[in-house]
Amino acid sequence: MSLKGSCLCGAVRYEVDRLDMPIVHCHCNTCRKAHASAFATTARVLREHFRWTTGESGLRAFESSPGKMRWFCSACGTHLIAKRPVQAHIILRVATLDDDPGVRPAMHIWTSHDAAWLTDTDNTPYYPEWPRGRGGVQSDERPNTGGEA
Ligand SMILES: [Zn+2]
Ligand SMILES: [Zn+2]
Repeated sequence: MSLKGSCLCGAVRYEVDRLDMPIVHCHCNTCRKAHASAFATTARVLREHFRWTTGESGLRAFESSPGKMRWFCSACGTHLIAKRPVQAHIILRVATLDDDPGVRPAMHIWTSHDAAWLTDTDNTPYYPEWPRGRGGVQSDERPNTGGEA
């Protein structure tokens, strides 16, 4: 059974047959900038196990290091995969999956590049949605209808 994924605006969609390597959180500088996030969650997928299903012509790429192309939706900016021509796999941006791959992250890598403000997240409160009493938030507000953290 294949797993489906998509960008934020839905213009680009893909399928993967399976993740071929463990899920890894990468903290490197280029992932941090490319994803505007403390780390990027990635997994290798063999090329023959990955295919675009919709909107491939809307993709653009940025060469973040020699030979490494980071592919993203030109409409909404979501990063979906990265790949190098010489490698048999692509690097999937796991957070763009719409289905649960059934496996859980194995490790964090490149923490030597951590942003100074990225502290031990286990000591930081977690909330399933917004924290209670957050001013001005309507109960029907959801991230996909404009409520952004
Ligand atoms: Zn998009
Ligand atoms: Zn990285």
